[in-house]
Amino acid sequence: MCVLEIQIYCPHCYSYSVVKNGKKVTGQQNFKCKQCGKQFLHEYLYWGADPANKRLMSRMLVRGSGVSDIAHVLGVSQVCVLRHLQRLAGQAGAAVSKGPYDRLQIDELWSYVGNKKRKRWFVYAYCPEGKEIVAMVCGSRSAATVRKLCRKLEGLQVNWFCTDKWRAFAKVLPYEKHLIGKRFTKAIEGVNTALRLRNRRMNRKTTCFSKQEANHMYAMNITISYFNHHTF
Ligand SMILES: [Zn+2]
Repeated sequence: MCVLEIQIYCPHCYSYSVVKNGKKVTGQQNFKCKQCGKQFLHEYLYWGADPANKRLMSRMLVRGSGVSDIAHVLGVSQVCVLRHLQRLAGQAGAAVSKGPYDRLQIDELWSYVGNKKRKRWFVYAYCPEGKEIVAMVCGSRSAATVRKLCRKLEGLQVNWFCTDKWRAFAKVLPYEKHLIGKRFTKAIEGVNTALRLRNRRMNRKTTCFSKQEANHMYAMNITISYFNHHTF
């Protein structure tokens, strides 16, 4: 007979400080981590529930995979991936810094939601000093979307808003604090490229886009949280 001893560790924080914590209705032993307080099983009957797979789902999303790719590679349903993304977006961290900002660069990026005739504009503010995205909104290509972003920036101390020549920016942003021109938005142009690369929905000519605006926003929240904090 061959006896194999297995040391159980927490799949969330990798701590070995774990204790037994009753049994599941399936009869499986349940464990609890003394370090992070989370419960887990040694083996999951359903792959989608395994914390290691959930982590993979998050990482694949911010490394250019779409929902159907993730579902196919991990052998779980698309509904399971979408549910996980929704939960993760709810926990996505906001920008770390609260200002004051000398310069915030603002730019817009388009992608599709629903079908290829429906372009949605992602407008966001980036702080080049802190290298983080401070606020973002999604909407039509109009001044109303820029106003929505400005409402999110209310209360922050900003000396200058730097943008390209899009008229909606000039219409909404305060004239005395507005710098217009490509030379003021070099850093955010680089961020545009990074976001297009990170999130499959933002690829040019992509056929992989969200069917619903809510899912689009979940994916963008997660991408930005990853961009700002680099953690999953
Ligand atoms: Zn833990």
